[in-house]
Amino acid sequence: MTDTVEKLDIAILGGGLAGNLVARQLSLRLPNASIGLFEKDTERGYKVGESSVEIASNFFIRKLGLSTYMVDDQLPKNGLRFFFDTKEKNASLFEMSEVGSDRLPMFPTFQIDRARFERDLLEMNRGTGVKVAIGGTIKNLDLKAGIDDATTHRHSFEVHEPDGSLRKVRARWIVDASGRQQLISKLRGFRTPERHACGSVWGRFTNVTDMDSLMEPKWPGADAWKGRARHTARVLSTNHFCYKGYWIWFIPIARGITSLGVVGTVFEPWMSSEEGFFKFMRQHKAVASLLEDAKCIDVIGEAAAFSDPFYSPGSDYISIESDMITDMIVRELGGLHREARGPGSLYDEFMKFRFDATMLLYRDQYPVLGSYETMRLKWNFDISCYYNLWVDFFMRDHHLDPRKLREQLRRKEYVLQALENFSNLFQKLVVELEAKDQLHRSNLGHYNNGTDLLYFQSEIGVERKKGAVNTRTEEIFNFCLEEARRILGEGAAEKLELHRFMEPVSLA
Ligand SMILES: Cc1cc2nc3c(=O)[nH]c(=O)nc-3n(C[C@H](O)[C@H](O)[C@H](O)COP(=O)(O)OP(=O)(O)OC[C@H]3O[C@@H](n4cnc5c(N)ncnc54)[C@H](O)[C@@H]3O)c2cc1C
Repeated sequence: MTDTVEKLDIAILGGGLAGNLVARQLSLRLPNASIGLFEKDTERGYKVGESSVEIASNFFIRKLGLSTYMVDDQLPKNGLRFFFDTKEKNASLFEMSEVGSDRLPMFPTFQIDRARFERDLLEMNRGTGVKVAIGGTIKNLDLKAGIDDATTHRHSFEVHEPDGSLRKVRARWIVDASGRQQLISKLRGFRTPERHACGSVWGRFTNVTDMDSLMEPKWPGADAWKGRARHTARVLSTNHFCYKGYWIWFIPIARGITSLGVVGTVFEPWMSSEEGFFKFMRQHKAVASLLEDAKCIDVIGEAAAFSDPFYSPGSDYISIESDMITDMIVRELGGLHREARGPGSLYDEFMKFRFDATMLLYRDQYPVLGSYETMRLKWNFDISCYYNLWVDFFMRDHHLDPRKLREQLRRKEYVLQALENFSNLFQKLVVELEAKDQLHRSNLGHYNNGTDLLYFQSEIGVERKKGAVNTRTEEIFNFCLEEARRILGEGAAEKLELHRFMEPVSLA
């Protein structure tokens, strides 16, 4: 035991993805600050969270200078792709209806080997002067008062090393990146209950059949199937096999390894053994056909406590929050104590709003996954809103602009109401189709490239007037209303003005 206290400007608790990304951003922005990163695990092992989407990828490139690294050392991602099956789960891959791109996306995204990424980031962080401490467990965290009081801004914790020795650390800033340990959340009671619960089991596999390598004559129909997606690299997508209530993912994580998992309401403990996992997967003909020669590296069971990985938003959250944390610390270490506090509470409120909005994309939506028609509509709605409202907002750094955040927060209830209206509409479609036993009626033979509404991609991330953003939102909403009515067999809908979608109304 030592009584020496190590003093730091910033201590980052945890050296997983979040810890390493925020350490990189802080060390680039504040080269003279003393930054420590504390991680208990000596090995960077396999983790889920391999797929990045547009906000995170933009963050890696724009804020962390990682574009060459991502292209050289990880895999380019070919968007999200969804396959649909019969009720009996016996469609072959080529028969399945599909929603997925027929070209690489305009904004790059990546499939990531998490263990390698974290290892490489740790090295990069050492290179930019971060004091990386591996092996010790953080205990006895003691948080002091608010960030506007420079004299009391002295948080402390202990690091218990495996050899029994103990280090004491004091820091002006503590960044909690301890993942599920949630060191600060537990201490301060920040956890919020969420009723959307789903389970997941996943693992890594070798020898998974590469769907782009299926060739005629062994695979009759392969040429036409590849042709309908313009021979794009489907294997680089996050491939979702969708069922009512759950979905199965295939994600390539380089060097012959594929991550495979199931998420949904079907989780049962027996599925988390290797045997159980294969048994479950093989109940689906198309999935089984890709796993004929597959070998399991590891299977990990997980009874969920996460928002939902359907659209891979995890690293988006990490990116936005890393940006916000960096902004507050840069202000405070620059002597602007009060200015750091102002955005701090705004950032909190905004992230809560973003979380509530995100959950509306998933909560009660799992039945929608089972049908090509309903999911195609939901996907086109979700992706175009994501681009128009969230990717654009991030790329223009509006999430760091208090004026823009206040503007967003003023509209919070209306936005949540609109999302709820559409969530109800999608659920209604499922109920109506099921009542006529037609939920699966279009699950074979259809293809949609998932960009019905992405004709405005070139407007994203460049200066646009608020009115132009609203016009696009109104177009998206009306398109989806129109399509929903078509699915229900109803006549064309009268076009609605944007505000009408934001009232508590039934759109169906
Ligand atoms: C099924 C599933 C699928 C997902 N898919 C995606 C996806 O496709 N894309 C995506 O972006 N996200 C995805 N996510 C979310 C993603 O996994 C998480 O957002 C991400 O792993 C969180 O990273 P982190 O750094 O916060 O936590 P972690 O990676 O868990 O890192 C926390 C670190 O803190 C360390 N630590 C904890 N306590 C202590 C302590 N007391 N002392 C010292 N060290 C400590 C741990 O050892 C660990 O290394 C998925 C999640 C699930 C459950």
